[in-house]
Amino acid sequence: MITVLGSINMDLVTITNKDPLLGETVIGEHFSTIPGGKGANQAVAAAKLGAEVQMIGRVGDDLFGNEYLTHLRNLGISTDSVKPVTHGKTGIASITVYEGDNKIIVVPGANLQLTPNVVEEYKEEIVKSDWLLLQFEIPLESVEKALEIAHQGGVKVILNPAPFEQIPKHWFEMITYLTPNEYEAEELFSLYKNDQDVLNSLIDKLVITKGAQGVLLYDGKKEVTIPALKVETVDTTGAGDTFNGALAVALSEGNDLKSACEFAVKAAALSVTKLGAQSGMPSRDEVNRLQE
Ligand code: ADP
Repeated sequence: MITVLGSINMDLVTITNKDPLLGETVIGEHFSTIPGGKGANQAVAAAKLGAEVQMIGRVGDDLFGNEYLTHLRNLGISTDSVKPVTHGKTGIASITVYEGDNKIIVVPGANLQLTPNVVEEYKEEIVKSDWLLLQFEIPLESVEKALEIAHQGGVKVILNPAPFEQIPKHWFEMITYLTPNEYEAEELFSLYKNDQDVLNSLIDKLVITKGAQGVLLYDGKKEVTIPALKVETVDTTGAGDTFNGALAVALSEGNDLKSACEFAVKAAALSVTKLGAQSGMPSRDEVNRLQE
């Protein structure tokens, strides 16, 4: 089983032909609520590919929280560890799209209630997993707590360090694979540029995603690039989340890192051919059809 411990946000997307000035009110063109948040996105990616997935997270006891829980359950994701916070507000991202550009305000809300103490309560759930998938849209101390529990319990971990935060040195031995995109990888390298020991210890943990250029990893002997599939790009939102979810699925099925990345590259390529993060994530059949 794959456990995703992370953020759950409802994206509130407004499309407008006029960008309001400060204090001005304008009439927009279109509004929609779209399930998002990196944690939930990665859980959905893995579930759509057929894995058994449990989510550990927090929503508010509000309409968005209810809607999101139903959405996750409909995809077969176990939400026993996603408790609505009393008087809490589900995390949101308020997104305004104007002439193809975004303005985004994120209010983490209930995600901040996923504290280290709460993570500790889910020790058993974490320890019974094969793989734990983590990102950085929840408190950093909670990520650390989850890492410690997984490490003690022998659970393998993928940490997707997004949005980038400084990763403390002592975390690396608790991480199986670290999956930055190229910008996050640059930040990581600049953080440890003077610490050759850390850089050496990272080599066989790093899986760097490079957008349309594919993925860079170390296969035990040398650096290997797995090229991205050439596809008609419609929307790259959620490509990284699809990649991480798919990587966890393929690893949990016993594939080695290189084969798992090959599978994840296919899933991520399919995801960019469709609009939306979760709505663009492929099913297992769609990925299999690509393999034929
Ligand atoms: P993030 O979304 O986290 O910034 P990337 O942009 O690196 O991550 O994308 C993750 C993976 O998705 C890439 O390694 C690649 O396999 C796939 N991908 C992203 N953009 C494209 C694209 N334009 N065409 C094909 N595959 C893509």
